[in-house]
Amino acid sequence: MMVTMPAETYLFGCLKDNFGVLIHDPQSGATASIDAPEAAPVEAALAKTGWRLTDILVTHHHGDHTAGIGELKARHKCRVVAPRGEAQRIAHIDETVGEGDIVKVGTLQARVIETPGHTAGHISYFFPADEIAFVGDTLFSIGCGRVIEGNPQMMWNSLLKLRTLPDDTRFYCGHEYTEANIRFAKTIEPNNKALATRADEVTRLLAAGQPTIPATIGDEKAANPFLRADSPEVAQLIARVGAPAWQVFAEIRERKNRF
Ligand SMILES: [Zn+2]
Repeated sequence: MMVTMPAETYLFGCLKDNFGVLIHDPQSGATASIDAPEAAPVEAALAKTGWRLTDILVTHHHGDHTAGIGELKARHKCRVVAPRGEAQRIAHIDETVGEGDIVKVGTLQARVIETPGHTAGHISYFFPADEIAFVGDTLFSIGCGRVIEGNPQMMWNSLLKLRTLPDDTRFYCGHEYTEANIRFAKTIEPNNKALATRADEVTRLLAAGQPTIPATIGDEKAANPFLRADSPEVAQLIARVGAPAWQVFAEIRERKNRF
């Protein structure tokens, strides 16, 4: 009988407030870095875990997600997988992928979900067997990425795709923005109990010097105002009753931009 071993992950800080994260397949020894904000912290994480870098899975072209790729690839000869829609904007790519493609990391398998809006070709990687998702700068805990290359409707649709992942899915995002996101979210839904619970948890984690992620999709659905733009309560709270959900989302995003 085939026995599958669960994936292991290792999370660490990079640059000012970026997250780096490794996912490791204990069966084959394969290890992927999700994005590569800078090489040195990834190297330190590899040294600490004793894992060997075989793959880099890129979510989008921004420099704070790609600057370390060249150095890491030169040293480890790892494969670089990147979004097809951003192939012209990312160096050192070996394979491009799009919606529904399967990316293997050893015996682990990720499904690619196109999540445009922050950038036009942004993708996320979902490992269904382990219920782990890497969502780059699309979804943050209690927040979402800025809509830079896309439009609000596009971003809302991307968030809806992530929202349909199983509730137990643990998601890893690109930045430690949770505390500031909570301060803003309270201005939208001041009486949201799930948000208050998450705020207490985040206060405890940060006081202990811990990262605030991963969070689960189920918890996030209850507390993140950007995932709640189609709830009648949220529409009412921002005085947009009857507006399409993407317009409610756009208004919340606009308020966050000014916050
Ligand atoms: Zn970005």
